[in-house]
Amino acid sequence: MAKVGFIGLGNMGGGMARNILKAGHKLTVFDLNEQVVADICAVGATAASCAVDAATNVDAVITMLPAGKHVKSVYLGAEGLIAAAAPGTIMMDCSTIDVDSAREVVSAATSAGLKMVDAPVSGGVAAAAAGSLTFMVGGTEGDFDSAEKYLNSMGANIIHAGKAGSGQAAKICNNMMLGIQMISVAEAFILAEKLGLEAEKLFAISSKASGQCWSLTSYCPVPGPVPTSPANNEYKAGFAAAMMLKDLRLSQEAAASAGAVTPLGACSRDLYEKFTEMSADDMDFSGIINMLRDDSSV
Ligand code: NAD
Repeated sequence: MAKVGFIGLGNMGGGMARNILKAGHKLTVFDLNEQVVADICAVGATAASCAVDAATNVDAVITMLPAGKHVKSVYLGAEGLIAAAAPGTIMMDCSTIDVDSAREVVSAATSAGLKMVDAPVSGGVAAAAAGSLTFMVGGTEGDFDSAEKYLNSMGANIIHAGKAGSGQAAKICNNMMLGIQMISVAEAFILAEKLGLEAEKLFAISSKASGQCWSLTSYCPVPGPVPTSPANNEYKAGFAAAMMLKDLRLSQEAAASAGAVTPLGACSRDLYEKFTEMSADDMDFSGIINMLRDDSSV
């Protein structure tokens, strides 16, 4: 049994932290939202008074925060986790952030004698709760080995992507595919409607044909074919459209800085920008089908 500090207990972190508890570790938690802290303390965690408190006297620290600015503010500086943690502590940042911020934080941690990996995830809220996430991990072989047992408690696939920042690079590329594919699936169902083809029939055929992809078979954007998809729950996230926009923006910033040509990634970012402007904060990214169906708004 190890002592683990966990910071960021939102949609994803809440489920992930519970799986750390289930694996038998002693868990200390912190979040700015007192309610999510109270919820997990009711099932066995201990509340820390601040982020640094959660990272002190522990073997491992896991963070699951919204974006790069939150990660940098929590880890860096005189009041940050890196200054407070004991040498040898393994730090795992599982948030989805830009590659440069990930490399900056890992570099600061290793300079301070800590071990650290960037370890963003794929899989969504259901996989976070079920412990079946895919982790894409950036860092040295040794730091990957130190992180693996904790990541195994929260995921089904733990993949070493390469040096620091490579986990974020993999995540950004993956989610650019996801954003493009969700729009492609949504457009196909709208076309099918116009052609008089039933959604259930298109699903039955394409899920066994070459249009098959995760956006279709696990997250279908029309109600019916996949009972667990947000389309059956008024498009309540799930994976918020704002999070998808964040990832598409990261992909386009990375493409511009690396000199990669990604026109469909850019188009998807533009469509998600428009969609998030007109939709509620908790709108799932698959809800973009409703904007595309209303052709006057595109
Ligand atoms: P969320 O907004 O539900 O949770 C973030 C949590 O961090 C919140 O509880 C917030 O109070 C807390 N927080 C913010 N700043 C803090 C600080 N300084 N100190 C302590 N706590 C702080 O977000 P989420 O959906 O759980 O996503 C977290 C990360 O995972 C994001 O980077 C997202 O891109 C990524 N991700 C999300 C999904 C998904 O389906 N939701 C899937 C894969 C990856």
